[in-house]
Amino acid sequence: MLYLSLALLLLAFLLFWQSNRQRKAAGLPGGRVIYTDTRGWGKLERPLFHQALGLTGKPDYLIQQNGQIIPVEVKSGRAPESPYDSHIYQLASYCLLVEKTYGKRPAYGILHYDNRDFAIDYTRELESSLLDLLAEMKRDEHRKEVARSHEQASRCARCGFRKICDQSLV
Ligand code: SF4
Repeated sequence: MLYLSLALLLLAFLLFWQSNRQRKAAGLPGGRVIYTDTRGWGKLERPLFHQALGLTGKPDYLIQQNGQIIPVEVKSGRAPESPYDSHIYQLASYCLLVEKTYGKRPAYGILHYDNRDFAIDYTRELESSLLDLLAEMKRDEHRKEVARSHEQASRCARCGFRKICDQSLV
């Protein structure tokens, strides 16, 4: 029984290590599970807008903390094992909008699920990956059919559109 438990523990560790490695290869930060106190969360009156990028969005909440403004995106339902790429990019776009609007770069944003919160670091790599994605979306916006742009099964595994996507790799 002890051997079985140890083997399972080792397997869990290997899977965790592998998924972390795949995520790093895709250039996205993993989420850090954090505890948050919702009492300091403030609702936003109007969406944020950045003309040059043609980007607009309304985080569910903003938190003022130690001179920073942290965006919060609320997702209904239980948290996935690790946040979906689409949720990370959505939050990253709010971080970008907060920086452009208030002139302060948030160190991270928060994804709030029913049972767990993740802090997503707003790194330079995430920002550059977001800007690439926005440029790609702009290029593709008038096309009816857009082909998958990668060969990363790990990305599809974490994608919120996987169930309806006919190009999913998993
Ligand atoms: S499931 Fe489809 S939309 Fe999602 S990452 Fe894979 S190819 Fe892209």
